[in-house]
Amino acid sequence: MKLPKFRSEEEEATFWETHDFSKYLDELPEAQLDWEPDEDTCPHCGAAMQAERIEIEPLEGLCLRDLQQYRCPVCGTVQLASESLARINRIDGLIKRFGLAGLLLREEAASASKR
Ligand SMILES: [Zn+2]
Repeated sequence: MKLPKFRSEEEEATFWETHDFSKYLDELPEAQLDWEPDEDTCPHCGAAMQAERIEIEPLEGLCLRDLQQYRCPVCGTVQLASESLARINRIDGLIKRFGLAGLLLREEAASASKR
């Protein structure tokens, strides 16, 4: 299924209310990366960046754990790992589809099944 171009967030939200999200999973936008695949190399100074685990709370009540980012020990540049960016993008799409409450339940189920 091809994902149409949306002119506004309202238009996109309306689309997801009337279409089956699962048919479009492959079409969801991936993270835009400036410097794949050497994402552990600093884009500014070229030093080897150090991976660290972080948590972010993009919305109140929604905490994303075990995200990975890279920090440059030389110039301090911080960059999210591509897998973490992709996860945030997916979650952004899921919020539009299921609403925040539905998404929180799914996140809980997902993290519970990893244990
Ligand atoms: Zn650097």
